Amino acid sequence: MTPVCTLTIGGEALSSDATFDVVNPATGRPFAAAPDCSPAQLDLAMEAAAKAFPDWRSDEPARRAALAAAGEAIMAALPELAPLLSAEQGKPIGSTNPGDAAFEVGAAAAWLGYFAGLEIPREVIQDDDAARVEVLRRPLGVVAAITPWNYPLMLACWKIGPALLAGNTMVLKPSPFTPLSTLRVGEILRCVLPPGVLNVVSGGAELGARMTAHPVPRKVSFTGSVIAGKRVLAAAAPDLKRVTLELGGNDPAIVLDDADPEAVADGLFWGAFTNCGQICMAIKRIYAHERIHDDLVAALAERARAAKVGEGTVEGTQIGPINNRPQYERVGELVDDALARGGRAVTGGKPLDGDGYFYPPTIVDGVSDGTRLVDEEQFGPALPVIPFRDVADAVERANHSHFGLAGSVWSADADRATDVALGLDCGTAMVNTHLAIAPNVPFGGSKWSGLGVENGPWGFHAFTEIQVLHRSRA
Ligand code: NAD
Repeated sequence: MTPVCTLTIGGEALSSDATFDVVNPATGRPFAAAPDCSPAQLDLAMEAAAKAFPDWRSDEPARRAALAAAGEAIMAALPELAPLLSAEQGKPIGSTNPGDAAFEVGAAAAWLGYFAGLEIPREVIQDDDAARVEVLRRPLGVVAAITPWNYPLMLACWKIGPALLAGNTMVLKPSPFTPLSTLRVGEILRCVLPPGVLNVVSGGAELGARMTAHPVPRKVSFTGSVIAGKRVLAAAAPDLKRVTLELGGNDPAIVLDDADPEAVADGLFWGAFTNCGQICMAIKRIYAHERIHDDLVAALAERARAAKVGEGTVEGTQIGPINNRPQYERVGELVDDALARGGRAVTGGKPLDGDGYFYPPTIVDGVSDGTRLVDEEQFGPALPVIPFRDVADAVERANHSHFGLAGSVWSADADRATDVALGLDCGTAMVNTHLAIAPNVPFGGSKWSGLGVENGPWGFHAFTEIQVLHRSRA
């Protein structure tokens, strides 16, 4: 199969001797190929990024203008990018739902626009007869950025925006399951960004490992699984690269006894099943008070039956296929295990017939902690709903996890829910909502869900280091 996109290295298009297939998850068949970046090409990309760094860091107004133009160029390319993203990722092409491809392209552009305008603080902490002391933020150098397959464009722009604003340059690698839309963005931005500022390479875990161990980058910004995140941290340690890790989650939603099941069901359902459940901060287990548990399960099941599952290209599709075969098999395995242990699939419970990696929204009743579907990150369209009697016990079970990305509490009384939410060990605690993210709000996980945060000034700071400027007046 002929590659449909090229690597972007030093502002140039490069093809590769080796290629790998990209599968359309709606058919389960390859529809394109992507270049497999060689070690020599990775060296070229790192050299190009290092060469571009001195000029790029020296002109802040030019960086802001270029980032704003990059956001506009991505938005202008939406009619081309959304179908490409849908073909390789599986998500619906539309723009109405945060799980849709056009929505993601718009979000990617919006994130670049936000960072184009973010003020860089210049803090004067002493200014008297003795001295003037300022705290400055300096760029780190070349950033190695690595992204997963669930939101390839949006998560790339969470890194591109702040890293480039700070004056760093970048080598970016998308997941081998979804390389094309990111490679295409690299092509589009060739005429917007100076050569070498943003280099885009594609390949698998081996290429990612080579990037993290490479001597050139001074920072690794990684989004992906816990297991790979730990390897990234170890690979970055020998030369003390700075590291930000955005890893997995097993987000709990706790529904209190005063919540109206009908009123909260939409928020809970889409908090779990947007993007076919493939969101790090999706609701992955619900703890529902025993008084409302059965009614909530019925309300969620009604929504699961009504949701339109299908190919991303079909008008009206709300939930596409699972992105790739290993993930499709994993979700099936976790549901089968739950059912074998006495769980009941109120809806779904087995793959849909036909081609592609389609698995219907599955509500599972009758399981509890200690079952893999509850304890592990399913990252797919299956949701256990677990009854509880005592709120303190629900919070304890919610916190009994290596993960700590986000969590939510649902109640008719927002103050009561807030008190409970403050007991959750996680990076984002929400009340009567889930999936709440924005460019100006820091996002990150506690425990094994990550290291550091992205977004807002806090995420920007992670792409800088402090320099103190001390001018003596003595
Ligand atoms: P993954 O860890 O398998 O792969 C992510 C990226 O890392 C890919 O580009 C892959 O090629 C690369 N990679 C794999 N091994 C590597 C290594 N040893 N060194 C360097 N790079 C390596 O994850 P995935 O399956 O693509 O994504 C799903 C996971 O990502 C889930 O756990 C999900 O929760 C997590 N995720 C987290 C966030 C967040 O912001 N916290 C967002 C989205 C996804």
